[in-house]
Amino acid sequence: ESVINRIAAGEIIIQPVNALKEMLENSIDAGASSIDIVVKDGGTKLLQIADNGHGIAKEDLPLLCERFATSKLSRFEDLESIQTYGFRGEALASISHIARLSVVTKTATSAVAYKAFYANGKLSGQNFKSSANTEPKPVAGKVGTQITVEDLFYNLPQRLKGLKSKSDEFSRILDVIGRYAIHCKDVGFSCKKHGEPYQILSTRAQLPIKERIRTIFGNSIATDILEVDLDTNIEKEYGTDNSKYGLISVTGAITNSNYNNKKRIPPVFFINNRLVACEPLKRAVSGVYQFFLPKGSYPFIYLSLQIDAQNVDVNIHPTKREVRFLHEEEIIELIVDKVHLILSSVDT
Ligand code: ADP
Ligand code: MG
Repeated sequence: ESVINRIAAGEIIIQPVNALKEMLENSIDAGASSIDIVVKDGGTKLLQIADNGHGIAKEDLPLLCERFATSKLSRFEDLESIQTYGFRGEALASISHIARLSVVTKTATSAVAYKAFYANGKLSGQNFKSSANTEPKPVAGKVGTQITVEDLFYNLPQRLKGLKSKSDEFSRILDVIGRYAIHCKDVGFSCKKHGEPYQILSTRAQLPIKERIRTIFGNSIATDILEVDLDTNIEKEYGTDNSKYGLISVTGAITNSNYNNKKRIPPVFFINNRLVACEPLKRAVSGVYQFFLPKGSYPFIYLSLQIDAQNVDVNIHPTKREVRFLHEEEIIELIVDKVHLILSSVDT
């Protein structure tokens, strides 16, 4: 059974960045305003993420890494959109089958923090000794949660071998943190390599969008960052025959020129606050630029869409970031028109 669990977990967590993204989203879900990440060897040796969110109650610790144990089912409205991104109560469970996972956490009502170790979905003894007492131990700590994942894929050696270089894995991790840091204006993020004193990425909460983008990607981002803000009722735009269309809102920021970063930054898309890939949207928005910039240009594009949860497709495999939504063509057309309007209104 443990081998089956391990294989299943390895299909959900393909690379260290998959584990990191799940934990980031958990910290954001917990209402954190500050998230600090430490990485060693591209995330294979160590992935540690500390937040100041609401913490986990001691009595919830035994089930934390149990498959399908989630505290998020009560918010029924969110259910479908959460399903879209897979992992209902599966992320920590999966990680605990293919790594050594430990947690230090404290809620506002608890006098102390607790430290717990996990192996194969269950509480384990101190320092992962299976024979020892598994009772979470009181320790000093602040309100919030720190999750430490060590030796990822230690029991899937082929997977470990198949990974790209440590620095490639680390770039993927930085890339995902950067994307969340652009999107989550109420959260400050930091990321550093284990054992190194300086932060590689560091943002504060409440920075305006343009400053966030510059903090994360540097001043190589063109000086002109244009904000996108589109609130629309699709029903109104496309007739009232389909009342299910509902409201969508699009916010974000784009540039009207190249940035001369060494590395190309692909478009950053969030749908209902989850980082997604959306190839049709990417193609359509990039298409608008052909009227404004020479071929092969690298504009910066960040768009955050809020769509009625029932209009987001739930039948996508958890490991796939690619997302589909209802009335995709109409919505994309509205966004394309808006981007066109914005780019036309400035000199390029
Ligand atoms: P899901 O996010 O789908 O519920 P996870 O496996 O990612 O499943 O997490 C399981 C549960 O652990 C969450 O529902 C939440 O209650 C708790 N949890 C995980 N990470 C944190 C965190 N950083 N702060 C507070 N609670 C957390
Ligand atoms: Mg989660």
